[in-house]
Amino acid sequence: MDCIFCKIIKGEIPSKKVYEDEMIFAFHDINPEAKVHVLVIPKAHIPSMDGVTEENSDYVRHIFEKIPQIAREAGTTGGYRVISNCGPDAAQSVPHLHFHILGGEELPAHIV
Ligand code: AMP
Ligand code: ZN
Repeated sequence: MDCIFCKIIKGEIPSKKVYEDEMIFAFHDINPEAKVHVLVIPKAHIPSMDGVTEENSDYVRHIFEKIPQIAREAGTTGGYRVISNCGPDAAQSVPHLHFHILGGEELPAHIV
């Protein structure tokens, strides 16, 4: 599978890990758009939000259960924003489901 995020999970591409357990992996975005910019991904290759089903939604549930801890450990103190871009209209650039955690500073009101 030629997926950059699957390779990050396997350690074939280096990343700055923030959190890992049996289901999910979190790491710093290589091109941060805020002082804190972390990506949280499932260890299963789900292409996007459109690929979430009853069979794999445990990964999504687990990601959201862990986001508060991951955001805190990444250094957010005054809140944060969680985003998932899905498909071309949202400019999704990596086809492996991921949730951006943005924070560490006051974010613009509208931009995602
Ligand atoms: P999206 O545009 O929502 O698909 O987000 C993909 C994100 O992955 C972008 O913010 C990229 O900066 C980030 N990204 C791409 N390659 C890497 C990498 N090797 N390590 C960390 N982040 C990456
Ligand atoms: Zn993948």
